[in-house]
Formats: sequence, C-alpha cells, structure tokens
Amino acid sequence: MATKLLLITFAICRLIVTVGLTVDPTELLRLVVDGQLSVDPSDVDTASKDFGLMSRAEPLAVLHPGSAQDVARLVRAAYSSAHGFTVSARGHGHSINGQAQTNNGVVIEMSGGGPSGRVMSRVRSGSGRVSEKGMYVDAWGGELWIDVLRSTLEYGLAPKSWTDYLYLSVGGTLSNAGISGQAFNHGPQISSVDELDVVTGRGELLTCSEEKNSELFHAVLGGLGQFGIITRARIALEPAPQRVRWIRVLYSNFSAFTKDQEFLISLHGQPSTHKFDYVEGFVIVDEGLINNWRSSFFSPSNPVKITSINSQGGVLYCLEITKNYHESTADTIDQEIEGLLTKLDFVPTSVFTTDLPYVDFLDRVHKAELKLRSKGLWDVPHPWLNLFVPKSRISDFDKGVFKSILGNKTSGPILIYPMNKDKWDQRSSVVTPDEDIFYLVALLRSALDTGDETHTLEHLTNQNRQILKFCDDAGIKVKQYLPHYTTQEEWMDHFGDKWGQFYQRKMDFDPRRILATGQRIFSPSS
Ligand code: FAD
Repeated sequence: MATKLLLITFAICRLIVTVGLTVDPTELLRLVVDGQLSVDPSDVDTASKDFGLMSRAEPLAVLHPGSAQDVARLVRAAYSSAHGFTVSARGHGHSINGQAQTNNGVVIEMSGGGPSGRVMSRVRSGSGRVSEKGMYVDAWGGELWIDVLRSTLEYGLAPKSWTDYLYLSVGGTLSNAGISGQAFNHGPQISSVDELDVVTGRGELLTCSEEKNSELFHAVLGGLGQFGIITRARIALEPAPQRVRWIRVLYSNFSAFTKDQEFLISLHGQPSTHKFDYVEGFVIVDEGLINNWRSSFFSPSNPVKITSINSQGGVLYCLEITKNYHESTADTIDQEIEGLLTKLDFVPTSVFTTDLPYVDFLDRVHKAELKLRSKGLWDVPHPWLNLFVPKSRISDFDKGVFKSILGNKTSGPILIYPMNKDKWDQRSSVVTPDEDIFYLVALLRSALDTGDETHTLEHLTNQNRQILKFCDDAGIKVKQYLPHYTTQEEWMDHFGDKWGQFYQRKMDFDPRRILATGQRIFSPSS
C-alpha cells in the first residue's frame, strides 16, 4: 500500500512538473481509488507502443480504471485543471500510427489486466448483461470482441457484424467503424449499437442513443475517440448460427471478380436462403506465410494448387464467401450454396470448401496470429494502409496498384471487398466515398528484416505514398479507413463536407481538446 501511494505521488509530481498541472494531488489520489494509477515502467512502455510499431509516445502515467466513474473522474480532473493534461483511452493498442498514445498525459488502459480486467469480468458476469428478450449485450468499452462473443454464445446469441480479428476492443472498433464480410448485409459494427455510456471531454458520464443525447451518440460512433470515452456499448444480437460453410473461388479476370462481388452484395435484401452471409475477397500476387497469414485455408489437402491456375504468373483474385447454418438445416445447405455458385463466373476448377463451427470461423485470424508469433513474425512494424475506393474507379485502382505499383511481391495480405453505403448511417462521424458502393482495399503488410530491400519498412512506406499519390493524380477519390494524417488541412480534406460538423462536435464535447490527441486532429488548448 505504501509503495502504491509513493508511486502515485511520484506520478502526480511528474504531472505537475511536466505540464504545470495545478490540481490538488490529494484530490487526484482520491480520484483513482477504484482502480490504479501506475507509473510502472512496464505499464508506461506498453502504453507507448501499438501494433504498428512505428511510433512511440510516452505517457506520464497509466490509469487502470476500476469503474466507469474512474474514467469520468480522471477526465474531469484533466478538464478542470488550470492547464489541462491529455487523456487517451487505449483499447487493445492495435492501431498502426500511435492513435491511442499520448505524450506527457495519461493513458487509460481500457482492456488491460489489473483493475480494468476486473471491471471486464464483473461486467461479463453481471446479471442482465445479455438480454434475450431485448436481444442485446451490454459490453464494457474495453472488452475484447472475443469475450463478447463467448458470453453471448452462452445464450445462443451473437452480434451481427464483425471484424476479421476478435482481439480488438469494443471501444476501439466502434471509434472507427468495425468492418468485415458481414458489412454489406448488416452495415459496419457501428450500425448495430443501440446505446452507449460515454465520458465526454468535460468528464461527464452520459448515456446516449438515437433518442437520448443523440448528437453525442452519432458523434462518438466512428469518432476516432475525439468526443468521449465509451465505457459501455449496448450491442444488438441475433440467434447464433452453429456452423459455417466457408468457400473460396478464384478469378484471373478482375472485372469478372468485382462483378460477382457486387452481385452478391446486391442480394442483401433477400431472404437468408438466397444470399451468402459474408462476402470478402483478396488479391493473390505471391504465395507464402507472410502474404496469406490470415488463414491456412489453401492447405496441401486442397485438390488444386493455386500455382496450376496461375500458370501465367499474373495476379489472381480470390472471392471468399460463407453460409451460416444450424445443424437442423444442414440438409438444404448444399442446395442453397450450389444455387448461388452457379450464378458466378469463377475459374471452374477452383472451388475450395471447408466447414467449421461458427466461433472457429469468426476467430480464424487468431490462429494465424499464433502461427506468426511462433515464428517471430507478429511483433514487427506494420505499415498498413486501408482505403475505401469508389466502385466506379476500382478497375483503375487494380491496373495502377495491384498490377503496377506493387510489383510481384506484396509483403502481406491484400483484402478487397465491396460494401453498400446505405448500410452506413450518415449521421455518424465516419466518412466514406460518395458512391452507393465502395470497396475496402486493405494492404496489411509487415516490414521484415530479411535482407530483401522490398520487405523493408522504408520500401513499404514509400509504396504507400506512391499509392496515395497515384489515386490523387488519377482523381480516384479514396477515403482512408483507420485514417492517419499529420496536419489539420489533411484532416479537413478527409472529412470534406463533414468537417464543419466534426469541428463543432469537438468544441461541444471536448472543448479543451484533451482526448485522443494521438489521432493528431486537434492540439490541446492550454
Ligand atoms: P486502440 O488501438 O487501442 O485505439 C484506437 C483508437 O480508439 C484510439 O484513438 C483510442 O484513443 C480510441 N479508443 C480506444 N478505446 C476507446 C474507447 N473505449 N472509447 C473511445 N475511444 C477509444 N478493423 C476492422 O474494421 N476490421 C477488421 O477486420 C480489422 N482487423 C484487424 C486485424 C488486426 C490484426 C489489427 C491489428 C487491426 C484490425 N482492425 C480491423 C483495425 C482495428 O479495428 C482498429 O485498429 C481498432 O482501433 C483497434 O482496436 P483497439 O481496441 O486495439 O484500439
């Protein structure tokens, strides 16, 4: 206890010295009583890094909140102190460019162990957390989606919309959008939220929804952490399927590939028997673990080797689709899938199928993570670039990027799949291209120290710049997903018509601009 007090006092003294914070130290000591304010070097080190491993910013202290009130108390102290200090919520730290970091402020570890972990488990086991009648779950803002899934499955229920990887926090993905192959049908994860508890930049803990504090609700969804810290999200559920039929088919012709993807997402309004539940795709330029780490789907037991289809050595495109089902309807699933596949124009010998439990499908990327970790290939720099590309220019993007700039090595998986804009609520803070259909193109690349120049961080970063310049020169109006900019001019350009609203919301909900400064949109006011 004495050591804890000493550490906390030390942290507070550093705060006072470094940022001129004038708040009474004893007040701060009281504020953190539910959880823990830490200056432990390992806590500070963790909070200084992220998955991207390309930027580093050291906070002065790390708060492991013991309750939503702890989050509110800390933000209130930051807001009301004479000079203010910055506060960044950190989910699982899976950002690429330091978005959850802050220099000389306090990071709130929403997902970590310690008291915040205990909050999670308390929330997880809390009564009424899953409502079968209301078909929702109340999740702690720092809870990982894998834990949300596990707890809802106990009731035979599951969220509708996902990310490909489940070791991300609820607050982290809802601050962006949260997308995967279900988005064409259900919209992004932010379209399945009924209600939020949010600590605003003034330190108020407010409940918001479509009906209540609706401006805050829409601002926070896709709001890049700018308007408040999500401490609870009420997420809509559906009956959980038991199994998944997972299918991949190949194309050598890009327009046949995108025509089929667009056809499949046009079926979103159809009964579930007449459409797939998930539509994604990826580009195959070269094979190998680092390029296709997201799954080991093309195993030696598959009847056709990709190389035999790709005899010209050119770019191939893989459509990835799934159909969910219950064991009780297993007898009709083959027929339904056959009916849909006959409408597609893929290379006829290239159907790869597997069948697995629903949870194993949703958690598929974690298996790949473990494989990469075992080879020391996970904790490496990740210069990822995620773009929303308007449908009208996707074939220009293919010619200019996949078939030209990338050359014959990709250094990581490249996803490509279309989504329907009408599934995105325009009142949220996210920006998407100005067309009814847009594609996600995700270049998920890893920088490796192999001696091969094309694998280096410098090479991949330059290539990203080249891709953005190509789009700019060609007039392809892309929008970055998980955006990263360093000047306010670039942010204004990113938000376009929405900038005025975004700015106004910032002034309303975080007037001292102390939250999520790692996004580099606003500078804190002193
Ligand atoms: P962090 O990196 O910790 O935080 C991200 C931002 O959100 C920061 O600005 C932070 O301040 C803010 N924030 C965090 N928690 C809160 C909160 N409770 N309230 C308010 N703001 C908060 N994205 C997809 O959409 N689909 C995918 O399929 C997908 N797959 C991925 C796979 C991997 C391996 C990785 C590394 C990332 C993937 N992402 C995907 C991106 C991911 O959704 C975002 O990077 C997300 O922000 C990560 O969540 P996090 O909990 O790690 O957030």
